[in-house]
Amino acid sequence: MTHSNPAQPNPSSANPDQSLLSPDSLPFEYSITRAPRKTMVIHVRHADVEVRAPQFVSTREIREFVTRHREWVVKKLAEKAGQDAQRLSLTDGGNIFYKARSLTVRYVADTREHIVVTDRDFCIHGRRLNDDVAARILQRWLLMQARSILPARARALAGYLQAGPRLKEVVFRKTRTKWGHCTASGRIQFNWLIMLAPDAIIDYMICHEVSHLLHMNHSRRFWAVVESVCPDYRVYVKWLKKHEHRLWL
Ligand SMILES: [Zn+2]
Repeated sequence: MTHSNPAQPNPSSANPDQSLLSPDSLPFEYSITRAPRKTMVIHVRHADVEVRAPQFVSTREIREFVTRHREWVVKKLAEKAGQDAQRLSLTDGGNIFYKARSLTVRYVADTREHIVVTDRDFCIHGRRLNDDVAARILQRWLLMQARSILPARARALAGYLQAGPRLKEVVFRKTRTKWGHCTASGRIQFNWLIMLAPDAIIDYMICHEVSHLLHMNHSRRFWAVVESVCPDYRVYVKWLKKHEHRLWL
């Protein structure tokens, strides 16, 4: 969302940087950040609305700009609120989106640490459970699955694509932004949280990263390789876009 330069720059106007305005006509508040840019842009992060604007734009013009885009902002805020409500909350009674099913997290006092998935519940067993202990048990459980499945599949697929020798190692790391990563040196990294996703998504992720062994980019040739082993990859890309916010921990 961008806006062209205003016709009448007004450099002498008051400049309440980072101030919080609450115009009567708008159902939300927004902050203004002055930035070395030529156009105005609105960012919606969780419940925060921020307008980034050039120095020469007056606060009145900013308000007009926001008012013009109020429908869009209201829609975005609703979308973000919906996403926040769906986020993984690892606590007793919280929710987790496991294999595309929305389950309730239950803490069960037990001498042995393990996880039991039922129709409705995601039961974390262990002693002296609190949210940190539960997160550790979940991590161990998902890492164990990731280790037993992902390297073997990645190697098999690399072999099939005649890229076997290029795959040097498969490692696991939880990052905040990525499901997988492949370096030019042949090191594939998977985020073990992907094990929460349906198996088809996991297969797609393996296919995506292994295909990078042949093409270190997202070119047409790269996607052609992906498609050759995962013909409906577009469905999975779309699924991730729509649901991945529910898998981050
Ligand atoms: Zn990629």
